[in-house]
Amino acid sequence: MDVAGRAARLRDCLEVDALLVTKLVNIRYLTGFTGSAGLLLVLPDELLFVTDGRYRDQAAEQLSDAGVDATISIGLTMEAQAEILRTAASGVDRLGLEAHSVSWAQQRAMAATWFPTVGELVPTEDVVESLRIVKDEGEVARIEAAATIATTALVNVRDLLEQHPTEHEFGLAIDTEIRRLGAEGNSFDTIVGSGPNGAKPHHRASSSHRRIGEGELVVIDYGALVDGYCSDMTRTICTGTPNELQQRMIDVVMTAQQAGVDRVHAGVTGVEVDKACREVIGEAGWAESFSHGTGHGVGLEIHEDPRVTFASTATLAAGHVVTVEPGVYLPEQGGVRIEDTLVVTADGSRPLTHASKNWDLRSWPSPPTI
Ligand code: ZN
Ligand code: ZN
Repeated sequence: MDVAGRAARLRDCLEVDALLVTKLVNIRYLTGFTGSAGLLLVLPDELLFVTDGRYRDQAAEQLSDAGVDATISIGLTMEAQAEILRTAASGVDRLGLEAHSVSWAQQRAMAATWFPTVGELVPTEDVVESLRIVKDEGEVARIEAAATIATTALVNVRDLLEQHPTEHEFGLAIDTEIRRLGAEGNSFDTIVGSGPNGAKPHHRASSSHRRIGEGELVVIDYGALVDGYCSDMTRTICTGTPNELQQRMIDVVMTAQQAGVDRVHAGVTGVEVDKACREVIGEAGWAESFSHGTGHGVGLEIHEDPRVTFASTATLAAGHVVTVEPGVYLPEQGGVRIEDTLVVTADGSRPLTHASKNWDLRSWPSPPTI
């Protein structure tokens, strides 16, 4: 990953004289810093990274490892950090603040006491995000590595299903295996929705002690985290041969998902990909049962741009990483969702999730040992 070159690319698209980056994931993107507190001032000819005493060594190590040329200043209190930034920003005419990560209280403090000598504080939106949306090869490789760990974890714990675990137990087994295989953790709270719980698209495994029964659909939506990058995949399995309705749900969602995947190309809008999935489900008579958008971008955040929904304003471009995840949810009965994560390429897309879509988890090939 070319972390060191990102600040220069950011400056090229800045419409303000300097930018105070406060959103931690954006600071990570620009510097490699993974701590929980830091502020990054992007000046025309200097990067100033300010953090507290806890991160003195970590900041120096991580910025150096990433090859980032920045001045690191430690302020033991927020007042001391404000003082460092006030001095550095004096003389700046227009200073951008990240509108979506600065609270009202912070903005008031910044205007009154942090930056009284700055000409104007300008709210900015999606500035660093506009760089993050296009992934380089290193970023794609990390998302793919996370996806491989996630798939392997599910296969490794499949025998547990014979014992009819609770959703909580099965989710925990997946999560533990993800960690054992070398990921930093989960990219979000694992979803395991069996039987009627599958009809709730975001049913959390951790809060459910429902036992996974025989002949049930089980929606499993989960991901791993590698170097801060998320993977995201949903599979729906069946603990027994699907009945007629279950099989029809599986077939319709499988067809819809493939239609969406086939539509993913550079130059295609998020709306068009969403429509490709929605048409198949609508023709099956389940338009009302597909109650969420088709997909979203994935990267350092599990949900980021571009959005792939009926209301999306995005047009896909090479290097975007998006999910395609249509579903059908029938209250009291269950749900089916199938989700892959894809990278948009010059001539289509390439999947980063490489798992079987067969409802019978026992039929999945054993992945190579990680
Ligand atoms: Zn997902
Ligand atoms: Zn997703």
